[in-house]
Amino acid sequence: MLDLSFDELVSYMAGLGQPKFRAREVWDWIYKRYAGDFESMTNLPAALRTRLAEQATVFPLRKTVEMLSEDGDTLKVLFALPDGQTLEAVLMLYDKRRTLCISSQVGCAMGCTFCATAQGGLMRNLSVGEITAQVLYFARYLADPSLLPVTSVERPSTVTNVVLMGMGEPMHNYENVWTALRLLTSEDAFGLGARHITLSTVGLVPMIDRMADEGIQINLAVSLHAPNDELRSQLAPVNRRWNVETLLAAVQRYIDKTHRRVTFEYALMKGINDTPELAAQMARKLSPLLCHVNVIPLNPIPDSPFQPSTGEDTERFVQILRDGGVPTTIRLRRGIEINAGCGQLRQAHQKQANSVQ
Ligand code: SAH
Repeated sequence: MLDLSFDELVSYMAGLGQPKFRAREVWDWIYKRYAGDFESMTNLPAALRTRLAEQATVFPLRKTVEMLSEDGDTLKVLFALPDGQTLEAVLMLYDKRRTLCISSQVGCAMGCTFCATAQGGLMRNLSVGEITAQVLYFARYLADPSLLPVTSVERPSTVTNVVLMGMGEPMHNYENVWTALRLLTSEDAFGLGARHITLSTVGLVPMIDRMADEGIQINLAVSLHAPNDELRSQLAPVNRRWNVETLLAAVQRYIDKTHRRVTFEYALMKGINDTPELAAQMARKLSPLLCHVNVIPLNPIPDSPFQPSTGEDTERFVQILRDGGVPTTIRLRRGIEINAGCGQLRQAHQKQANSVQ
């Protein structure tokens, strides 16, 4: 059901001899009331609910593992898809925000050397419904007061922010991601403000240009991780296709067109990309842009030589950027003990499954 547009749902229901208003009821149950099955759509006739349940499914994800951080503020869920693939999504509870980090692909083809998801390569794209389902799942979860983890923070009972920073490269699954984003932002469907959604890309330049023309005010985040080609090509191989200069030119075009501030993400790695020289080089390149840098403390992944920078080196790096005229923040580290970094929970579970076999 989640893969259908409204018009397709109308045709589908018509095929069952149902009038348009029934399609509207099903649609609203899904996007406004987050129903996970036909059984809970109580204003539909029982016979219709049974018939629908026989031939369709509302929700394509099955929760397999759920982990809550010790402070209760980060919830990570591993879902199984109908074909046995798995994906992960993370809900982070902040004071006034409920931020959900979702996946766009199973695995990833981009090959960033410090990223857990990259290690297994790309399995497949997620469908539109598999992307929106992640948001609808947590919307349902937050709407049910009996399910809230017990913590001290004040809680809006809905998803307030979505970041496409889970598994996968959203620009590499462009059509499905943007169809999902239109459903999530449409008042007629989920109705989340576009400004509350951020798409993070490793820098697929033609797709950044395409996003600038979408006319939906989704925030753009670009994973930079190094300010020059020599280093960036080692960390993010896609840089060999679109180098730093080409990427920054695309970001400038995006800003010119949308007048929106772009975020650059920078995962700080000890002795790799955290030197004062690199910070100064980056400040020179980024200060002319309407942008902001988000420094991410590296989540160390198993069997990887990359380690997070020390607190001192992080502070120094950030200070040089700020002094160079680039607004910079350090991302809060959430859920580290529950493997809440992209692809890490999935990877840990695959390893466990392999060792059992
Ligand atoms: N493909 C998209 C989304 C990926 S995940 C992109 O590259 O932007 C979102 C962010 O997490 C990216 O900036 C990614 O580089 C970063 N990331 C990946 N592995 C990480 C790790 N082990 N520690 C910290 N950040 C990591």
